Amino acid sequence: MRHIAIVGSGPAGYYTAEAAAKKWGEDCRIDIFDRLPVPFGLIRTGVAPDHQSIKGVARRYEKVAKGDTVRFAGNVSVGGDISVTELQAFYDAVIFATGAPHDRRLSVEGVELGNVFGSAEFVGWYNGHPEFATLDPDLSGRHAVIIGMGNVALDVTRILAKTPEEFEGSDIVAHALDRLARSHLETITILGRRGPHQIMMTPKELGELRDLERGGPKVDPGDLPPADEDADLEPGVRKSVNLLREFAANDEAYRGKPIAIEFDFFASPNALRGHDGKVLAIEVEETHLEDGRPVATGATYEIPADIVISCIGYRSSAIEGVPFDERAGRFANEDGRILPGLYCVGWAKRGPSGTIGTNRPDGYAVIDIVDEDIGTGSHKRGREGFDELAAERGLDIVTFRDWQKIEEAEIAAAREGAPREKFIDIESMIAARG
Ligand code: NAP
Repeated sequence: MRHIAIVGSGPAGYYTAEAAAKKWGEDCRIDIFDRLPVPFGLIRTGVAPDHQSIKGVARRYEKVAKGDTVRFAGNVSVGGDISVTELQAFYDAVIFATGAPHDRRLSVEGVELGNVFGSAEFVGWYNGHPEFATLDPDLSGRHAVIIGMGNVALDVTRILAKTPEEFEGSDIVAHALDRLARSHLETITILGRRGPHQIMMTPKELGELRDLERGGPKVDPGDLPPADEDADLEPGVRKSVNLLREFAANDEAYRGKPIAIEFDFFASPNALRGHDGKVLAIEVEETHLEDGRPVATGATYEIPADIVISCIGYRSSAIEGVPFDERAGRFANEDGRILPGLYCVGWAKRGPSGTIGTNRPDGYAVIDIVDEDIGTGSHKRGREGFDELAAERGLDIVTFRDWQKIEEAEIAAAREGAPREKFIDIESMIAARG
């Protein structure tokens, strides 16, 4: 018997469990731990609430969760309720699939001002993550500035721009829907420290900006490189650049709409300015590119900013006793191996890149490595040993069946047309299992 502990129940965790169950069948037991009482990680609290089709992948993870081989143990904090060393005493392999839940810090003067958020916080707020549900962003101002030109910046922009009607069918939480409905935004400026050719936004997501009811994208044609230079771009980036060209050529796309979504290229955040502890403007420095890298020119200008959301990437959480690469913000690993018996997968292994599907081959690859290392397993006690310790410590484990009851309660509480109304605090989640 092989005893496997997976820490984190997001896409990387479930694909890894799927791979293990396929490889070893009845000859393994896999426990998936999560510090929250609810599973699926980013699918629940990261993927945009208006992208329900992406969330459909959770049905696949539910299939993995059925049967005895794979067990969900929610409301258990590894590194808090139980140490990594203790887990290792019970399991042949401990695999961290903990994602990258923290914001990469924006290192500019004034970052501590009020109404300045990182995307983990802001996305967590509108998605009902218990840690960020009480964030309380002030959306009463006219100008929002988003830093970064990746897909998270696009998610945040779209959510800020949408009308309440455009959230129909989404599972955006009620507190965010109410607050967004009362916002008075007139501009959303998206800042990129590099140019259109370096954009990280993918075409499908970028194209959604064309369809917004009250927001229209605005690109300065002067920022676009000569069209013949697009030929060398990778096809996905070329498609995104084509869209930027379309936005630049078609200024009806934003004229006449109440919210202008302005792409500001070659603009690096320099400092945040505020009054009475609250942000009012962002100073940016113009850049030019040298070997693809942004180099400041010394020329600066200010953009009004009543709210600033920095969407510049994420970092994993370090866990005591597990080597961590501080610079890269993920576990120190070689192809998923951290130390004997300790592994990582997904964003915890490679950093915050790729789509949800990228985690599937990652999960299968780490199980191949674990298979090489542990052979047919050992005589460790696995689940039985953990359960004994959990009982001694009085841990209140939330099972997959409990989660299904929580989910039923969320579905029952949904407003009309919405798939669910999420519980946004841990106590309510736990109470809902009955
Ligand atoms: P990302 O794609 O890496 O984009 C980060 C952006 O922040 C880049 O434009 C980067 O510019 C910029 N940036 C980084 N440091 C900066 C700084 N100090 N000052 C100014 N700008 C800075 O990250 P992400 O948007 O957080 O997305 C993470 C992953 O999730 C990506 O793989 C993304 O595709 C995926 N995702 C997918 C979807 C979807 O498919 N619908 C939705 C959300 C997220 P430089 O390029 O100049 O560094």
